[in-house]
Amino acid sequence: MKRLMILIVILSLSLCKNLLADEGMWLPVLLEAQYDDMVTRGLKLTPEEIYSINNSSLKDAVVLFGSGCTGAIVSEQGLVITNHHCGYGSIAKVSTVNNDYLTNGYWSQDFKEEISISGLTISRLINMRDVTNEILSQIPANATEQQRKEIVSKISKNIAAENKTKPYINAVVREFNYGNAYYLMTYEVFSDIRFVAAPPLFIGNFGGDTDNWMWPRHTGDFSIFRIYVNQNNEPANYSENNVPYKPKYVAPVSKKGVDKDDFIFVYGFPGSTTHFMTSKGIDMNVNHINPIAIDIRTTKLNIIENASRNNDTIRLMYANKRAGIANYWKKMQGETVGINATNAIDKRYAKEQEFITWLKNIDSLKKYSNLLDTIYQYHQLIYDYEYIDRVLYEAYFSNEITKLIQRTISDIKDLQKNEIDSWQSKWCYHINNFLKNNNLELEQNLFNSTFKYLDSLSKYLPDEILKTKVNATKNIDKSIFINIDEISEACNKNKINPKKIQKDPLYLLTSQLLYWYSKEIWPMENYYNNKLDSLYRIYTRLQSYYLPPNKYYYDANSTMRISYGNVKPYNPADAITYLYYTTINGMVDKALWGEAEDYKIDSTLLELFKTKNFGPYTNAKGELPIAFISTAHTTGGNSGSPVFNSKGEIIGLNYDRVWEGTMSDFYFDESRCRNIVLDIRYMLFIIDKYANAQRILNEIKIVQ
Ligand code: ASP
Repeated sequence: MKRLMILIVILSLSLCKNLLADEGMWLPVLLEAQYDDMVTRGLKLTPEEIYSINNSSLKDAVVLFGSGCTGAIVSEQGLVITNHHCGYGSIAKVSTVNNDYLTNGYWSQDFKEEISISGLTISRLINMRDVTNEILSQIPANATEQQRKEIVSKISKNIAAENKTKPYINAVVREFNYGNAYYLMTYEVFSDIRFVAAPPLFIGNFGGDTDNWMWPRHTGDFSIFRIYVNQNNEPANYSENNVPYKPKYVAPVSKKGVDKDDFIFVYGFPGSTTHFMTSKGIDMNVNHINPIAIDIRTTKLNIIENASRNNDTIRLMYANKRAGIANYWKKMQGETVGINATNAIDKRYAKEQEFITWLKNIDSLKKYSNLLDTIYQYHQLIYDYEYIDRVLYEAYFSNEITKLIQRTISDIKDLQKNEIDSWQSKWCYHINNFLKNNNLELEQNLFNSTFKYLDSLSKYLPDEILKTKVNATKNIDKSIFINIDEISEACNKNKINPKKIQKDPLYLLTSQLLYWYSKEIWPMENYYNNKLDSLYRIYTRLQSYYLPPNKYYYDANSTMRISYGNVKPYNPADAITYLYYTTINGMVDKALWGEAEDYKIDSTLLELFKTKNFGPYTNAKGELPIAFISTAHTTGGNSGSPVFNSKGEIIGLNYDRVWEGTMSDFYFDESRCRNIVLDIRYMLFIIDKYANAQRILNEIKIVQ
């Protein structure tokens, strides 16, 4: 076996020389393979300074913010910086019409003014430990995929329980690359988190949806929180007696900034990638499923935008929803552009064929020669189910009217006679809530316009549902759920007979669709997904032999990772080059001349700009930088990740990726995949010059 492995490594090294350099999100405990490359490119830290469980290290300053973002500890008193869009929900939660911190920003003047955010947690990784053998050794060779899942889940829970040594410790076993490896992650979870400061929305969310996933970018995407602990410096629930946390490590913040080609690294908690996805899988998703999803979302966005244009109430009511729909709508389109522009499917297919040729030359691996063909087949087999699932969700089940119908169905399902009165008041409550939180006319419009996409499922729908659908189409205007305002009036006065509701055409259609989905679609989709998981498990294991160690990495799964690269411009299209950084000049241009409502500036910032009152935060040309881009590989969850220079000093906060490179979750192309980073000098400028929040500035560990 040993000789085979050596042969495999030699063969792979010769085959993979030309793989791209900056792809990859590395577990800090497995950084060894990358370390020399990082040093050659400029890194000045030892592995122990980056990640250590015996001594304090950089990793102790990198925290999981909530459950889907990253943050960095930057002061001896537990100050945490993250993105504005990561703090957004918490800031909104404590904002009121009179104290609208979201719109106007907030700069607490002392500890007492720091606002507790209930429910928000910040977690610090204590350590990660490889438990692969503990788990895999207990899985019988003949276990089915379902049995395997159950065994893994049981052992993982036991390992986690043994390691949850204190109430504030969270221990969890995470699966890597389809079950090829398992690590136990142990966190210390802080639950007394207070909101310290944030810039106004026009800075923190400058460019809004218009600029989301785009470069050039001018968003001051940061917010500031603080960890509080008990007198023993331990995590504790909120208490007035709690005190600011004394961190194990404080990340220094540098004012030096970045230049083109500088080495940088991103330390954070990337959420999810599928970078082993085969050419067939990419084709299915990008060319066959995404187009209809984009189409449905375009329809929805047009309706919401038309309704919002001259109606501020609707605009505000639907702002979040619109942003949610637009976010992936834009990302999916970027993926299509990126995949086609780089000819990714053909290139990946060619690589897969090289891999198969390699495999066929190794006696012990020959038996896997058909592996990729089998994977391609399963992608084909699952396609119909994924398509149905996606259309049902995008066109039907994500509508508010459908959600109301679904709620009604589950409430009525097992209703006993003596429960009718209480059911009625519950139903009226749902209806009133629906009318309070939505605009009925707009929802009717959304429902009617997306209903037609169910036609694309005609060839799959059983006859019975097709008949119900014909009836629903004919009588849609008469449905109770379309005329919900009339029902609302009647609701509190008259008894509403649940039997009558059960005959409603949309109630009937929704019930049948739900039943069909749960009995025929989801089980098959799950079945094929399990198959694909087990095939990809073999595929990724073989890739670990095929690829040299510094090219083989685990897909992101919300565990701590390091990505690295260089500050670099890119060419998004023929004859266009985007520079690697933006400045306040661009922000002012957008605000003064740009048409989008998302571009705004206030007189204070404009005055600082006009008088060039930028303090010590400028670059060598005297410009005030706002953001820069690099080749580091990042994804959702990396938002708020500190971006470090070669000495381990924070020079930025990661917040997005460029539109032309959003396909990096499954195909990373170094020529166009870029992460977008807030230049930390802009954050310091806003704190210092714009907000004059010296108390906060003085606390941050700034290095020259
Ligand atoms: N904008 C993303 C986030 O919120 C970051 C990304 O996808 O690159 O995590």
